[in-house]
Amino acid sequence: MLCISDTAASRQLSSVVTHSVLSRNSQSFQPSSSSDMESTNTSHSLQNGTLQNGTAQGDHLPLITDKLSDLSIPSKGENLSKSQEDDRESHDHERVSKQNVPRKVVMTKELSLMESAYKDIIQHVGEDPNRQGLKKTPQRAAKAMLFFTKGYEQTISDVLNDAIFDEDHDEMVVVKDIEMFSMCEHHLVPFIGKVSVGYLPNKRLLGLSKVCPHVEIFSRRLQVQERLTKQIAVALTEAIQPSGVGVVIEATHMCMVMRGVQKLNSRTVTSCMLGVFREDPKTREEFLALIRS
Ligand SMILES: [Zn+2]
Repeated sequence: MLCISDTAASRQLSSVVTHSVLSRNSQSFQPSSSSDMESTNTSHSLQNGTLQNGTAQGDHLPLITDKLSDLSIPSKGENLSKSQEDDRESHDHERVSKQNVPRKVVMTKELSLMESAYKDIIQHVGEDPNRQGLKKTPQRAAKAMLFFTKGYEQTISDVLNDAIFDEDHDEMVVVKDIEMFSMCEHHLVPFIGKVSVGYLPNKRLLGLSKVCPHVEIFSRRLQVQERLTKQIAVALTEAIQPSGVGVVIEATHMCMVMRGVQKLNSRTVTSCMLGVFREDPKTREEFLALIRS
């Protein structure tokens, strides 16, 4: 068993721990049906900032039954509807056509369009976009938004290339408390929190330093937390075909904190368990115990 804690100060991998006592099922897990994907639990806590993780406590949680095909960036091997295929084709086409144009030109054009849109927003909230303090705000906001959503510019192969190793290691690997910054796609405000990722290898390991970038590909987009959780788990499964994967995200949503219920300490917890993490309660409990410790 390998357990890594990602500290707030840096993303340096900081600790290496112990051996697992559980025997392992070395069978490879690959998501093959929608039922394999029906494993994302969501739990909301509004209790004085205390984590009320129903999954960890064995409570009954609402089951999110959206299928893999509901993911915004579908990955290979899934069944796509016609309209989703069209969406993907147009998305791919967009990427290809962008690739033919120097990135600087694309970004300059997008930046100027976004600047103009932000200028409109400033005006519509009742401000004067020409006021001294706001003059450069549209440009700053546009640049910031492109940074917040830079996951669209990355692909799994960009990040994981040369970082997958053949290794006869079949003990659980856990990287926990990875800082996560994402944008709520419903309100375009941030949700921030921590991600813990665990997997049981099946002769292939992912370089430990690549787990954080792997999370960022999906978090740096317009997202909902449930989908983000599942995308991280499914993409890891596809990349290294482990026996199982577990992903737990605990996050605070600014759209809940600053509007709506306006509870400062509210947390949302989501989890996605695939393969033996889903099928074997002992493996799941071991993972949950590790990320709680
Ligand atoms: Zn929101």
